[in-house]
Amino acid sequence: MVNVALIGCTGSIGRQTAEVVRRHPTEFRFSALVAGSDGAGLAAMQREFSPALALLARDCAGREGELFADCDVALIATGGFAGLSYTLAAVRAGKKVALANKESLVCGGELVLREAARTGAEIVPVDSEHSALFQALSFRRDTPFKTLILTASGGPFYHCSREELARMTAQDALKHPTWNMGAKITIDSATLLNKGYEVIEAHHLYGAPYERISAVVHPESIVHSLVEFEDGTQMAQLAYPDMRLPIQLALTYPRRLPCLPSLRLTEVRALHFLPMREADFPCFTLAVEAGRAGGTLPAVLNGAGEVAVQAFLAGSISFPAIAETMKDALERIPRAAADSFEAVAEADRAGRAAANSYIYGK
Ligand code: MG
Repeated sequence: MVNVALIGCTGSIGRQTAEVVRRHPTEFRFSALVAGSDGAGLAAMQREFSPALALLARDCAGREGELFADCDVALIATGGFAGLSYTLAAVRAGKKVALANKESLVCGGELVLREAARTGAEIVPVDSEHSALFQALSFRRDTPFKTLILTASGGPFYHCSREELARMTAQDALKHPTWNMGAKITIDSATLLNKGYEVIEAHHLYGAPYERISAVVHPESIVHSLVEFEDGTQMAQLAYPDMRLPIQLALTYPRRLPCLPSLRLTEVRALHFLPMREADFPCFTLAVEAGRAGGTLPAVLNGAGEVAVQAFLAGSISFPAIAETMKDALERIPRAAADSFEAVAEADRAGRAAANSYIYGK
């Protein structure tokens, strides 16, 4: 029986984790559930799963030790920068940490890895691309490889011209073709920022230098990523796009349990691979450059991005202005060492302040 502490239980990943647990009641149970602000959703899950602890995020301060005390796996599924403090608490408790929260590695990767090395905590990817890489590496972080190749759906705007991109609204973006996700990550998928973040995550998870990580657009979202080896072989992981697979595998690997229907290649028929269009989607390059520069710059970028995406969702700025806002923050705020939670949190605040000043002039 795997005891799971689920942080972010009422969001998209949280609800899909509940489906995995519901489907395999003899394999998994929840030891703790934390919801952001959805009290009714939390109460319903508490009735169904009877965890030892069920809390709203605002009641968690000072109780991190309790949250992770009885779990085998801490699944961090809460969105945004708020996830980092939970990740650090779980890592400091020496737990296996299943990470669906990107910001933990994007903003705090250097810090999280240093703490994990100290406590022996293991970081397991929940993101579909990094799960695919993990599978292609035979679940070993010491498997030698030549290149990690991330696939991207391309998002809803990949086929838009530059002129069309300038006119796209949040509503246009939220009609995302393949994956069922929250609003923030859907916009990050449309700007390709999400793929830039995944390059940073892959760098931290697999110790890959940035020049050995690439990305390719694959609209069908059947190939979830590939690893190229020294001899020119590429190993890919294929499955229908469904987050329940990487969630479940993060809890059980290297063991595999039933999850998805068989992939019918004769029904899929064709798989396409296209270049990233980096010049028209500058968020991807901004993220990779911030990752290469390291220190607190990825946290600055992310803080600015959270403000910019909220402004885009509210109709206050255009689609191209998301990237312009983030670029401005990176140019204005100097890099510092990301050697403490406070340093990373300060960079997050500085990124948000820069974006607010760029967008609203305040
Ligand atoms: Mg992903």
